Amino acid sequence: MGYLADTAHPLNYEQTKALARYIKEHGIIQFLHLYKKFKDLQQENIFWGDELELHLLNINPLPRLQLNSEYIFNSLISDHFTLQPEYGAWMLEAVPSKPYEFTGDPEIILQNFKARRDTIKSYCKEGDVLFSGTVFPLLKVGDYYVPTTHEKAGNISEEKNPKVISPLGPNFKHELLNPHPRYAVSCENIRLRRGEMVKMLIPIYKDEKTSLEKTDEEPYPGFIHMDEGIFGTGNTSLQVTFGARNLDEARYLTDQMSVFSSIVLPLSAACAIFKGKLADTDVRWDLLCNSVDCRSQEERDPSSSKYRPKSRWSSISRYISNREQCKEEYNDVAIPLEKEMMKIAEEKAKEMGIELDERMKSHLGFLFLQDPLIIYGDKVFVDDETNTNHFENLQSTNWNNVRFKPPPGMDSEIGWRVELRTIEAQLTAEECVAFCMFSYFIAEMVVKREYNLYLPISKVDENFKRAQVRNAILTQKFWWRKDMQKESPDEYLEMTLEEILLGKSDSFPGLLNLFYEFCKEEYGVDIQGEWAKKKEDAGFQVNKLTENMKYFDILIKRVKGEVPTIAAWIRNFVLKHPKYEKDSTVNTEVALDLIKAMTAISDNEKTYEDFM
Ligand code: ADP
Ligand code: MG
Ligand code: MG
Repeated sequence: MGYLADTAHPLNYEQTKALARYIKEHGIIQFLHLYKKFKDLQQENIFWGDELELHLLNINPLPRLQLNSEYIFNSLISDHFTLQPEYGAWMLEAVPSKPYEFTGDPEIILQNFKARRDTIKSYCKEGDVLFSGTVFPLLKVGDYYVPTTHEKAGNISEEKNPKVISPLGPNFKHELLNPHPRYAVSCENIRLRRGEMVKMLIPIYKDEKTSLEKTDEEPYPGFIHMDEGIFGTGNTSLQVTFGARNLDEARYLTDQMSVFSSIVLPLSAACAIFKGKLADTDVRWDLLCNSVDCRSQEERDPSSSKYRPKSRWSSISRYISNREQCKEEYNDVAIPLEKEMMKIAEEKAKEMGIELDERMKSHLGFLFLQDPLIIYGDKVFVDDETNTNHFENLQSTNWNNVRFKPPPGMDSEIGWRVELRTIEAQLTAEECVAFCMFSYFIAEMVVKREYNLYLPISKVDENFKRAQVRNAILTQKFWWRKDMQKESPDEYLEMTLEEILLGKSDSFPGLLNLFYEFCKEEYGVDIQGEWAKKKEDAGFQVNKLTENMKYFDILIKRVKGEVPTIAAWIRNFVLKHPKYEKDSTVNTEVALDLIKAMTAISDNEKTYEDFM
């Protein structure tokens, strides 16, 4: 898609509300057509890929969001990747132009990540930098953005359409958002459905002089208060998508990756600053859940019959596999499902001669519990046999830890896929490779060995909660299955990330050790043996699979506490900066030095250690 290829005009909130049921019903029908066409699809050549989000900043003379990013979209040409616009006008998403084959070779992935950074950088104007941090540390602080230099197509300008301003709050700035109207309208509709501003409270990192006074700006002492979606969706991540050989495999992998997603979150921890203040958490997940929380007051009230325990950005609440390993009792978090849509799904499936099992039906009940956030007036009445827009409407605004992706259109050559969505953006290409390859091998191993990672959903949710704790990577224990064999007793252990990855004496072998065994059996490669030899003799030739150890070492060092997470490194950078005043505030000078240091690390000009 070009930067502003789609300039369709979204309906207003009242119209959207009135059409919600229609869109949902037709979304279900569209899904059923996809399901009917592709349910028996078998693909032996499967692919995978990633999506890397980045910030374009200007640091001349001080760090600001560069809202005029379209010059990059309009001129950039690359064989390696394509650029896609994102939520913020300053944000870029870079996706490999062709998905990867399953070769196990990290070099191809590394070169692609490097090409993305180097190419985009080469297009950057003087003073603009490509920032790979997860959060822009000064969002909404002082003079924090370079204003747009001209009005963009499709923009709902503040003067032209003052009515859309009021629901978004007094400080809302349209120009911060991608000018495609869908972003502003989604924000607006979230706020209108909720009935009030969104609310994010992140515990502040308490230092000697941290103010715990109640002020207009910080009405919740002890917390960093944020009330606009951009504080969540203006952050970046690294997402990995895996192709599956068939529907059954995609469903199973979705469940397994859901559990896995809860440990890559703390492993990738990269957030320490929000709104110019040091936070007492290392990850952005809770912030995201709250940033798009469109539940009405009743839906947020645990004593109400309409109660919904989670926002539309959340970890999934129902497993979807139909394999026998997936026991109904694992779905132990009480959540409402959209029963009416499930009934429609059942009836329509019958009419269409499709068998729709209970788990698939309840997955639809989970997705379609949400209302559409945005509807385009000219795309309401469409042919459900050839279009998938109403299904995609709900699918793409259920922002979960994992996404079970049907083929993206009726004519698609892409099959069933699974997306892992919890990895925080990393600074270096090597770190990105580490997370992509680690996730890819776990997915491959799980599929080939039929490993069973099932935990009751309540325990996955608990893992997400623990991941929020500062320094969770070293201080927290996470639920994990004691035995990952296909048929294994339901025993769960609480282990540190080091134990989950590297093993715990007699009780758990460790994911990486299982991976080494897998490589021996599956590919005949003794990774550990080869890697040990290479460490003694740098010239020793190793299999391309063994080259992954260079990247896995990054993860191993993190879980052992030998190197800090990006979040811990950022916090430490601020705490020891001479201009930091021990008040939890990250002032402009500190932020500028931090951004320069992070950029130098991403560009391989400096290392983390240079600043430690
Ligand atoms: P979304 O934003 O909906 O998650 P994107 O279009 O931005 O989707 O990214 C799609 C992801 O799917 C990318 O990581 C891409 O590499 C990957 N991908 C593309 N084609 C295939 C395929 N045939 N099999 C598996 N993954 C694929
Ligand atoms: Mg994407
Ligand atoms: Mg994605």
